[in-house]
Amino acid sequence: MARRKKVYEGKAKILYEGPEPGTLVQYFKDDATAGNGAKKDVIDGKGVLNNRLSEFFMTGLQSIGIPTHFIRRLNMREQLIRHVEIIPLEVIVRNFAAGSMAKRLGMEEGTVLPRPIVEFSYKNDELGDPLVPEEYIIAFGWATQQDLDDIVSLALRVNDFLSGVMHGVGIKLVDFKIEVGRIWENDYPRLVVADEISPDSCRLWDVETGTKLDKDVFRRDLGSLSDAYTEVARRLGVLPSNVTHRPKPTLIN
Ligand code: 5GP
Repeated sequence: MARRKKVYEGKAKILYEGPEPGTLVQYFKDDATAGNGAKKDVIDGKGVLNNRLSEFFMTGLQSIGIPTHFIRRLNMREQLIRHVEIIPLEVIVRNFAAGSMAKRLGMEEGTVLPRPIVEFSYKNDELGDPLVPEEYIIAFGWATQQDLDDIVSLALRVNDFLSGVMHGVGIKLVDFKIEVGRIWENDYPRLVVADEISPDSCRLWDVETGTKLDKDVFRRDLGSLSDAYTEVARRLGVLPSNVTHRPKPTLIN
């Protein structure tokens, strides 16, 4: 088979040229990093789980009319996606205080926020993805005011969907990060959810016990990351077949 052209390699994923113009193949690695690469490990099977989970969330979003870059899953570690212009922002939605917000404001983790809060970080590893106000984003031309209005409503719709799906399986969606891409259709730009949605980019706590089921398990040395992600996948019914044997559904005539 001809070698594929690598377009980009990040900390957790690789992008290859896709089979048709305007497409890419997104490969999920097993690498885990935290603290902007300061802590690194390889977690067996993480890429397989994140590929499945991201497929599950992206197809769910599409089923309620939220556009995403996802086309289809190709195999255990790869999915076909649309080639988008990534807006250089991390769009973070928070329902409860945690992580950098809790630290910055001296809040107790888990404090319920008065309403979902959307914030933006400038995507730049060397700078550690600094939080930026809308004023910077518009002044530096990373996105227009119209884009930002659209991104906020997109992010809040994603939040409603993900919070509901997670609540249904006993998981609290504390916060998450998405990336947004721009695609051009007949000279008109359209914003779509891009990158991935997985426990790497969300904070997920068990509703009953508060147990963390996300990348904080790795960031804070709280136990097995693959056990946590497997639990999320198990609850959502999206475990890959070689990880465990799901009972077959009973067919009723
Ligand atoms: P915080 O700003 O509290 O560190 O993160 C807020 C949310 O965004 C968390 O769910 C976290 O996992 C996610 N997040 C923030 N930055 C990144 C990043 O660089 N990569 C990934 N995968 N997720 C991030």
